[in-house]
Amino acid sequence: MSQSMNNLFLYDMTVESTTILYGPGKRIVLWCSGCHIRCPGCTNIHLWNKDSGKQYSTLEVYNYILSQTNIEGITLHGGEPSEQLEAFTELLEMCGSRYNKILFTGKEIEDFVTEQEKIFIGLFDIVKCGPFIQSKLGSEFIFMGSSNQRIINQTNRIQIDLNKKEQQVTLFKINFDGSLSLQGFPKKEHLEIIKELDIEEEK
Ligand code: SF4
Repeated sequence: MSQSMNNLFLYDMTVESTTILYGPGKRIVLWCSGCHIRCPGCTNIHLWNKDSGKQYSTLEVYNYILSQTNIEGITLHGGEPSEQLEAFTELLEMCGSRYNKILFTGKEIEDFVTEQEKIFIGLFDIVKCGPFIQSKLGSEFIFMGSSNQRIINQTNRIQIDLNKKEQQVTLFKINFDGSLSLQGFPKKEHLEIIKELDIEEEK
């Protein structure tokens, strides 16, 4: 393998196996630091700053992915992954076809127009695209925080019915210290509960 050239700014790298929130099966979720889209009402404000996490070489991230067993797929979440397009292209090309790949982007898929952007977008099996729009909060469809967003199935590799309603997941979690946190794509009523109970929102 050639020497790694790019660095990635990541808030976290997690292994998700108990929820379909970020895609089916056991998967690596890469939480990108940095987002200039800045949708009003975004629940991931802590990821907006590029320095909110740590810097890793693409090789370090690749080795982390390889060190995990039985991984089916990789999901890029944010933050805005396309703001680190070159480094992610390098990483995903290193990973090859052994994992399925899902992208969560706040841009529209039509915004990816240059040669390099098209190569990047072509690496994903499923692309969830579009900004979060507060007035369109909540969707019954999986992966969507607001109803304007779209899910583009580019390859049919991932066996998931994207048109099936009521697949959306919102998790209320009790942490070890007894505090409560919420994970996922909240609806209006969930945000009211958060406000009432002062629950911390998570990624
Ligand atoms: S694109 Fe995503 S991370 Fe960026 S502001 Fe919008 S909802 Fe938040």
